Amino acid sequence: MSRFFSNKYQSLTPYTPGEQPKDMQYVKLNTNESPFPPAPRAVELAAEAAKKLQLYSDPECRDLHGAFERVFGFAKNEVLFTNGSDEILNFAFMAFCDQDHPAVFPNITYGFYSVFAELNGVPYEEIPLKEDFTVDVNDYIGIHKNVFIANPNAPTGIALSKEEIERIVVSNPDNLVLIDEAYVDFGGESVAPLTRKYNNLIVTQTFSKSRSMAGARLGFGIACPELIRDMNTVKYSTNPYNVNSMTMAAGIGALACEDYTRQNCDTVIKNREYCASELKKMGFEMTESKTNFLFAKHPDIDGEILYQKLRARGILVRHFTKPIIAQYNRITVGTREQMQTLLDAIAGILEETK
Ligand code: PMP
Repeated sequence: MSRFFSNKYQSLTPYTPGEQPKDMQYVKLNTNESPFPPAPRAVELAAEAAKKLQLYSDPECRDLHGAFERVFGFAKNEVLFTNGSDEILNFAFMAFCDQDHPAVFPNITYGFYSVFAELNGVPYEEIPLKEDFTVDVNDYIGIHKNVFIANPNAPTGIALSKEEIERIVVSNPDNLVLIDEAYVDFGGESVAPLTRKYNNLIVTQTFSKSRSMAGARLGFGIACPELIRDMNTVKYSTNPYNVNSMTMAAGIGALACEDYTRQNCDTVIKNREYCASELKKMGFEMTESKTNFLFAKHPDIDGEILYQKLRARGILVRHFTKPIIAQYNRITVGTREQMQTLLDAIAGILEETK
């Protein structure tokens, strides 16, 4: 730390992204990326847009809004596009949370929530999940704090129902409820339509997972126009050009290929169910995932050791050191071939440790 680093950030522990090693070709199952390339039209339009990079991108993302409304049915004043959904999460903390409006989220969830709270000097409370790693909705009823819930949750993969989310929203009319639906396309149920019914609800999603665009960084939030306006105030006070023109074009291309997206999600779901049932046959215990990853542990092998042994065999999964989940690994669901490579490697490791 230099002597110039601001006092306000001295105790900040930054988010640790999943590793992206370049030393060898790994079977990469550690950052929940799609195993499929982006839609061909997304690539084509991004390449076209590259020819005009001398110009700033459209801060209003008008063409992207048009394409989005045709697919999702939400108008420009109900939607904000951001540089990945990480950015809209930060915007929500910046716009709506402060000393008088603290945040609350589960103790096991997306690691960025606590980082954004710290970054913005927002007090926060982490509510323990139940023993089976489910969110106890009753913990959030009338809590009088701004609620951040990933649904389905990460890294557990477990989803709450639309009715459960609605109960939380209704019971906290004077606080914001943000539902992070980064993984909703793999079996969850979106509450985006409820943003028309409740003016304290923000739903965020991303093009990173189901639309194979993690590298392009495109996320979005859906909410009532007043909330979108507030987050736009933050956006225009930080970076009006937060979505670059190639990403915007790729997003339009992806939205023109919703069949491709649905097909890829269906394949991931099928591969997830196959992999889960094979892992169970080998003695693994896991949560019921509605996402593009599995969260699994084995009674005979320590979570970190399994992670290390897989890594040594060229397979990357994500291991978290937090004690409650240290026996688990989060395994991104890839192609059927990648799943088979993983299953064969695990079978070998288990045999070795007998
Ligand atoms: N929410 C959750 C729950 C996530 O796991 C991720 C991905 N790491 C994000 C949001 C952010 O994704 P992105 O910024 O790529 O849209």
